[in-house]
Amino acid sequence: MNKYKILKAILCVVLISCYSSIYAQERPKLVVGIVVDQMRWDYLYRYYDRYSERGFRRLMNEGFNCQNTMINYIPTVTAAGHASIFTGSVPSIHSIVGNDFIVQKYGKSVGATYDENVHAVGTDSSKAGQSSPVNLRVTTIGDELRLATNFRAKVVGVSLKDRGAIFPAGRMANAAFWLDENTGNWISSSWYMDSLPKWVEKYNASDNVRKYIDKPWTTLYHINTYIQSVSDVRYEWEYLGDKSTIQFPIDFRKLFDSGKHNYGLLKDSPWGNTITADFAKQAIRHYKLGVDDVTDFLTVSFSATDYVGHRYAPNSIKTEDTYLRLDRDIASLLEYLDGKVGKDQYIVFITADHGGAHNVQFLSDNKVEAASWNKYIMCDSLNKYLSKSFGKKDIVLSLDNYQVNFNYPSIRNESKKEEIIKACIDFFENIDAVMYVVENRKASQASIPAPIKERIINGYNPQHSGEIQLILKPHYCAQSAPKGTTHGLWNPYDSHIPLIFFGKGIPSGQTVREVYMTDIAPTVAALLKIQMPSATVGKAIEEVFVYNNK
Ligand SMILES: [Zn+2]
Repeated sequence: MNKYKILKAILCVVLISCYSSIYAQERPKLVVGIVVDQMRWDYLYRYYDRYSERGFRRLMNEGFNCQNTMINYIPTVTAAGHASIFTGSVPSIHSIVGNDFIVQKYGKSVGATYDENVHAVGTDSSKAGQSSPVNLRVTTIGDELRLATNFRAKVVGVSLKDRGAIFPAGRMANAAFWLDENTGNWISSSWYMDSLPKWVEKYNASDNVRKYIDKPWTTLYHINTYIQSVSDVRYEWEYLGDKSTIQFPIDFRKLFDSGKHNYGLLKDSPWGNTITADFAKQAIRHYKLGVDDVTDFLTVSFSATDYVGHRYAPNSIKTEDTYLRLDRDIASLLEYLDGKVGKDQYIVFITADHGGAHNVQFLSDNKVEAASWNKYIMCDSLNKYLSKSFGKKDIVLSLDNYQVNFNYPSIRNESKKEEIIKACIDFFENIDAVMYVVENRKASQASIPAPIKERIINGYNPQHSGEIQLILKPHYCAQSAPKGTTHGLWNPYDSHIPLIFFGKGIPSGQTVREVYMTDIAPTVAALLKIQMPSATVGKAIEEVFVYNNK
């Protein structure tokens, strides 16, 4: 080799190592996207004094807090939320318009993650594993990271719920894992893998999950120190009508041994979050996430907060205790990341897929106009009303997602479709609970406030959504009165969510400027210097960036 060639080789090595080091310096080793299912924004502050310095308070005090993050579509539900956070898009485009939706052409209801072409991996319960992101039509931030690195980046999703693991992880992820209620196993589907990794099999064979059935739920702190009242359980659901299960301690073993429950019990308790955090740590360790200089991506969705919220509503010691315990799980996950990936080597963002309303009976008892909406009774009344004019009894299939879903196989050849739509609108204009009735295709012309109009348009997908949108009066919702609560509406209690960015290169601070759920993915894309997902409509949140103009 002559002198010139040697010099050229040295120069190449120097350039490559410079490039690698620039790459390594500019990007975090790992991004962890945390979603807390049904976490209202105000829970950051309602329980602030009791959070530890290591959990939520660490994120709030050291990270960047976007105080007014809103969901800019309806319905505000889990599948749509997870899909929108990680795609930066809206249901109108990514097509995940609900937890279940009706394929309008066939009048067939499908679960958002249902995929008949895949099978369960890790359980015999095929129902628990026929899940994939096949209905998600666009890329996630994880998919873009895979593309940007020629699949060297690893992307993994973890959640108790399949939709909480699958939609964040995306179509090209290495893996998504969720909990099978029947076996207490962490499972996946053939979309991602043919068999579980050995470490997951080993984990499932241990009692790491199932041992929590033997752990009764008592409060973390002395019960008299909670914001909520000890004895006021009027608005809370007991287990299968057993009144003894409404007061602490809640004995899961007794419920399990009754034969009426399975490992789904863990989802209704803080233990559901603890086992999620523990499995997420295992995934970090075994997939070696954040070990090399190629950024990896882990999504963790804490779902127990949603089950607890539905069962007990916001004003409950059970809900309060679940967040105080989640604070510990988050602290423990952050400390694990500090140790494994290194302080200031990773980025975490934490948000929610939606909020949750107060119990309507509680509101009503406290002088707020509020009521339950029974979609089944209302659908029957509507069909009876329509049958008088149009002679058919089954014109409307359902009022799911507060939309009129027509039974197209029944009215496909109906020449009077416009008249049917008009009759539906007339019907709902005379229903007290309904504030606005909007024909979705004509939403832009509706005389309704602009923020609601925008949310209707962003949530409407012609293939998967009903043709008429109902906007109920505030505090009217499809809660199974008089207990528990639900979510799904445009109102701030359902659509105002927490959002904090934390870690490598993120300044400490906060803004009250209104930003949107759809801004999260483009912000992460900008932080990672990769392309934003394929149908992003949001904008990067500028305040999260520290510029060095030298
Ligand atoms: Zn929910």
